[in-house]
Amino acid sequence: MIGLLGFVAIWGASRWFGWRRGALWPALALWWVVIMLSHLPVVADNPLRRVVGGDFAGWLVFGLLAGLVLAYRALFAGLRSRNAGPVVAEPVAGRFRPAELDRYARHILLREIGGPGQGALKAARVLVVGAGGLGSPALMYLAASGVGVIGVVDDDVVENSNLQRQIIHADARLGMPKVFSAEIAIKALNPFIEVRPYNRRLDEASAAALIADYDLVLDGTDNFDTRELVNRVCVAAGKPLVWGAITQWEGQVAVLDPARGGPCYACIFPERPAAGLVPSCAEAGVAAPLPGVIGAMMAMEAVKVITGAGEPLRGRLMIHDALYGESRVIGVKRRADCPVCGAAAQA
Ligand SMILES: [Zn+2]
Repeated sequence: MIGLLGFVAIWGASRWFGWRRGALWPALALWWVVIMLSHLPVVADNPLRRVVGGDFAGWLVFGLLAGLVLAYRALFAGLRSRNAGPVVAEPVAGRFRPAELDRYARHILLREIGGPGQGALKAARVLVVGAGGLGSPALMYLAASGVGVIGVVDDDVVENSNLQRQIIHADARLGMPKVFSAEIAIKALNPFIEVRPYNRRLDEASAAALIADYDLVLDGTDNFDTRELVNRVCVAAGKPLVWGAITQWEGQVAVLDPARGGPCYACIFPERPAAGLVPSCAEAGVAAPLPGVIGAMMAMEAVKVITGAGEPLRGRLMIHDALYGESRVIGVKRRADCPVCGAAAQA
């Protein structure tokens, strides 16, 4: 009985202290080896054997069965994760203060996130391009999720007509650069993370150096020049890009990550629409909660990519029609002749 409780105690300690990925199983195996050694037929009766209980054959069968179950699980986990590959180099799990453990407790309870996933979030550096309609909810949820370093780049100031949907800003901050307004809101929500505001437009000269500092990029801009630039730089650097767009009542989300599978932005939209064909929010209008829906989905995809949970929208495009309350997901493929990620571009 005590022997079994030992396994439970080790598992509990791994959750509580947020051990790094892969540390739990060796610890459990070590405990089993200790039990087996104390029960070896050639070893005389000893205190550990009496405390642990059971007998050699029993523990041997237990270990073999547990090993079989784990091997079976590992096999199927491997088959399920089609697009594996961590985006964060070295998660720093286990360095949480008590207030942080309490703050992220609902995340740590989730089997797909747990202590290791929360450590990956803390170690992650995410750049959000645009602190507007999509950037507002995305930034708030990334901050609430515990992403360790959040960069935000935008060259606009907060205007009265923004406040209908850009909920990270406030009436009292009209006229303030959006990145500083966003910084105030993020710090107020989560003082445990670092915010890096860049009060400028992302341009050709600086984009590569800036994006190189981050593990993952979220694009919430509404102009094609920036969108295509972010896509090009992310493809060249092999960084996953969570992309979202909205107009009037409809929004779209995808994870563009050809380095780990699926297409890039230019694969899906090879031709830029003729000028004036796709009106901006300022020209066509947009329903206030729509960027909230799509921006929150972008943050959700970012959390999944960072923690390795579930199946991100790689190679899939989610289209949400708010007017009819309908969502659909269509498959999107990488194009061999793509000018950005295709064979010719990589050569
Ligand atoms: Zn492409």
